[in-house]
Amino acid sequence: EKIVVKELAEKLNVNPNDLIMKLMNLGTMAAINQEIDFETAEVIATEYGFSCILENTQEDMEDDIFEEIIDNPEDLVKRAPIVTVMGHVDHGKTSLLDAIRETEVTAGEAGGITQHIGASEVKINGEKIVFLDTPGHEAFTTLRARGAQITDIAILVVAADDGVMPQTIEAINHAKAAGVPLIVAVNKIDKLNANPDRVKQELSEHGVLIEEWGGDVVCVPVSAVKGEGIDHLLEMIILVSEMQELKANPNRPAMGTIIESEVDKGKGPVATVIVQTGTLSVGDSIIAGHTYGRVRAMFNSKGKRIKKAGPSTAVEILGLSDVPEAGDKFIVAKDDKTARQIAEKRQQEIRAKNLRVNQKVSLEDLFNQIQQGKVKDLNVIVKADAQGSVEALRQSLVKLTNEEVRVNVIHGAIGTITESDILLASASNAIIIGFNVRPSSSVTNLAERENIEIKTYRIIYEAIEDIEAAMKGMLEPEY
Ligand code: GDP
Repeated sequence: EKIVVKELAEKLNVNPNDLIMKLMNLGTMAAINQEIDFETAEVIATEYGFSCILENTQEDMEDDIFEEIIDNPEDLVKRAPIVTVMGHVDHGKTSLLDAIRETEVTAGEAGGITQHIGASEVKINGEKIVFLDTPGHEAFTTLRARGAQITDIAILVVAADDGVMPQTIEAINHAKAAGVPLIVAVNKIDKLNANPDRVKQELSEHGVLIEEWGGDVVCVPVSAVKGEGIDHLLEMIILVSEMQELKANPNRPAMGTIIESEVDKGKGPVATVIVQTGTLSVGDSIIAGHTYGRVRAMFNSKGKRIKKAGPSTAVEILGLSDVPEAGDKFIVAKDDKTARQIAEKRQQEIRAKNLRVNQKVSLEDLFNQIQQGKVKDLNVIVKADAQGSVEALRQSLVKLTNEEVRVNVIHGAIGTITESDILLASASNAIIIGFNVRPSSSVTNLAERENIEIKTYRIIYEAIEDIEAAMKGMLEPEY
């Protein structure tokens, strides 16, 4: 299931260099004549507004060719936004999601117990919004590190009595690295010591400029416990999503992403999926990661049994052979047999891939990697023991940028190197620089698994010198 970069560029009718850049952003280094796998091609094609599916005929199983479904503009219809809630611990992410779900209970049919499937759907003025139920940037970036970008809008919850805190900054940087627009929800405005102006001030210091301050970020005051401002927040989500012009084609085989899965004693493997394009129907044969099966039953976010699920719908599905992983893509296959064959082939590939080392940027062979892909961006995450050091490193590193190489500090903060930093590095193909901080052994293990380079220093100029040396290797000789 592979395609040469050049061929894909031709099919999509885009500049191969643009495509290589996009691949780099996804953490894949590939030269113009190199092959990339189907999943990667699929993500790229989707970014350009194409869909691609595996040709599922018997004879083609050997060389697995691609067939793009070029969605005709007139086949595309508006789809609902998919939203993730992020923010510092205790700032009210869970309470906000609860408050949002409650608007639905009062507005909708006879309330009752809503079954948890990993995502919720609410309606405001007849427009649907899908919320992913697991808040936080770790969940968001874990999916992204696995190549799945489902979130259209991120809600940044900031408690008005506490202001911008370390995980607020992390959330901002994770959303930025993913290119996902933010809406700020200033929460806990019911509290006596709430100070929304201070929140706005602090946000501006971290590059989030709200409308009131001349920026373009929507900011909504809310109280999750009192249920205040929730409708306004939902209206703003619709407004921001309308500017994004989110569209999909409901009349094609479904494609989407697994967001949760588990084995249920009675029902067997159960997975919650988000349908991103197309329509999923009961009876469809699907491939999800290394698993396959025929959709035996589907339940929506209210626990109701349904037969069809269109774009931007979260459904729980029964009928898979095994438990797929969160972040796995699913696609519809021609029939059960094809689905099983593709899944089995994928299982073999996964085994083979685990033996190979997946290529991530590292200072040592930066030069080679860059030469292969002609990519000129070096993403860096900076963690240090003091804000002064973070800023000093950030400024010196960014100054290393020249015509040929751009250095981006995608996240800089005080504190030790965390698992969340590794995930961000993995999703954004970055290296991590620690100054007077060290990762714990569990973080080091994760970094090894994800193939992320962590360099720690005690002297700032040594860090700068190292990067500069690697960059010199990146420079093309000038004559
Ligand atoms: P999370 O860690 O971000 O998910 O935060 P939670 O939703 O668990 O909220 C943390 C605490 O803040 C809980 O005790 C909530 O009751 C409280 N809380 C959340 N939202 C509000 C609010 O709007 N007003 C007040 N006064 N308390 C809130």
